[in-house]
Amino acid sequence: MTSNERSAQGGDPVCWVNRVCPECGRFADDETVDSDDPRCAECGAELSV
Ligand SMILES: [Zn+2]
Repeated sequence: MTSNERSAQGGDPVCWVNRVCPECGRFADDETVDSDDPRCAECGAELSV
């Protein structure tokens, strides 16, 4: 896993790693993550946030 390529994304990688869809790799936005049923907007996979 490459953890250095997005160091400017917003600090601690642990904070946003759960936002990345395990199926397609899409990055979920705040609105998606904060919903009751967070799912990838691209493929619909459940996000473990
Ligand atoms: Zn996805």
